[in-house]
Amino acid sequence: MANVKNIAIIAHVDHGKTTLVDKIMYHCQLFRENQNTGDLILDNNDLERERGITITAKNVSVIYKDTKINIIDTPGHADFGGEVERVLNMADGVLLLVDAFEGPMPQTRFVLQKAIDLGLKPCVVINKVDKENCTPDEVHEKVFDLMFELGAEEWQLDFPTVYGSAKNNWMNHDWKDEIDNIEPLLDMVIEHIPSPKIPEGNTQMLITSLDFSSFTGRIAIGRLTRGELKTGQQISLVKRDGSIVKSRIKELHVFEGLGRKKIEEVQTGDICAIVGLEGFEIGDTVADLENPEGLKTIAIDEPTMSMLFTINDSPFFGKDGKFVTSRHIRERLDKELEKNLALRVNATDSADKFMVFGRGVLHLSVLIETMRREGYELQIGQPQVIIKVIDGVKCEPVEEMTIDLPESVSGKAIEMVTMRKGEMLSMEAKGDRMVCEFLIPSRGIIGMRNQLLTATAGEAIMAHRFKEYQPLKGGIPERQNGS
Ligand code: GDP
Repeated sequence: MANVKNIAIIAHVDHGKTTLVDKIMYHCQLFRENQNTGDLILDNNDLERERGITITAKNVSVIYKDTKINIIDTPGHADFGGEVERVLNMADGVLLLVDAFEGPMPQTRFVLQKAIDLGLKPCVVINKVDKENCTPDEVHEKVFDLMFELGAEEWQLDFPTVYGSAKNNWMNHDWKDEIDNIEPLLDMVIEHIPSPKIPEGNTQMLITSLDFSSFTGRIAIGRLTRGELKTGQQISLVKRDGSIVKSRIKELHVFEGLGRKKIEEVQTGDICAIVGLEGFEIGDTVADLENPEGLKTIAIDEPTMSMLFTINDSPFFGKDGKFVTSRHIRERLDKELEKNLALRVNATDSADKFMVFGRGVLHLSVLIETMRREGYELQIGQPQVIIKVIDGVKCEPVEEMTIDLPESVSGKAIEMVTMRKGEMLSMEAKGDRMVCEFLIPSRGIIGMRNQLLTATAGEAIMAHRFKEYQPLKGGIPERQNGS
């Protein structure tokens, strides 16, 4: 049987991930000679490009030198933190793709940190060395510094690197030595990314993500850690709470190229999709029928923010979209709930209003924009954070926030964060830029990105992620400029 390598790919938008994956697939001859390869196969959606993040993760798989390489895409933003952790769970290593001109960007820090904490082996690709005035050696050094800063261990800091130009279809160990293929990159993956460790024992597969098809219903995706999985096999599902439900596998798929292939038996260590499991959730283990042993489950993000979705009842309804009734919106939200895990929807006292709970402003606004682009008309209320009572004390969500900006405007940003009840944790000069870290209530982050961009002439890069619930921090002044 073929070897398997499971790698997650981490890249800032526009650093060339799509182009590179496209070239990898091309090299591994997924295309027939006559097929049109003019368009990129893995293409970002408009929203991802505008926001500079990957929202929907796509898996692809290729065969190279008798080894099956599963390439797992990672969402780039911290609002999708739970998803990042889950998908990284399926990988043994990561491919960090960095632009030779721009260097590593703060938005990728979060995912890289998770990968390092999980003990994954990093391999680095420095792309776009064809760009004028690029500095591949300095970028390599910056990547090293970043990993060091994130607490990488020695064996992780000892990462291999290839340089090249995905656009021009080459990668090599030396950026001054242009060749005509990307094999050094694939060889690096084969040589340095560990193969899955297969422990002794019976069937175990942790369900780490899910998919939905209107024909077959929910599909469970995960990596077969040990034991076997066959079509028609009876299994036990070990639920998050330890209870056990028996079920049967109707169909099994593995990833192949851009799609999936139906198979009879999954090779241990490979990533697969199970059709026909009843009543499963993310974090459940598919285990042996007679002697089931559950795997350590994984965290599912709790929502921290809510927004009220209402049908458009203004006199102008129907102008922008074709789906305008509450039934349309209800159905669309139900569909979203099938795969958008951190989302919750509650009915309200009005049939035309839905309270939607999500991970943060970004998580919810991505959904809103997607729905609008699909032709739904909605009115949206102000975002509200979710307050919880913990041990009799009212608590609110608090986030870690990093702002990377030119030193000359850092004073303004710090003032803005402090007004919003943020506390500075650290501040560090990096060339002519400053990287400041804060702890700030989620409440304070609402509406901040635009204000910050205005105050810094568009120069600030801000990233934040939920940390924990903490006692309420007191009032945040309303905006003073009246706009
Ligand atoms: P993604 O957002 O990370 O998936 O990036 P894409 O693959 O879509 O690439 C973003 C842009 O960078 C596109 O315009 C590509 O043509 C360009 N690009 C990708 N690789 C290279 C490269 O090696 N050199 C140069 N100069 N441009 C590249």
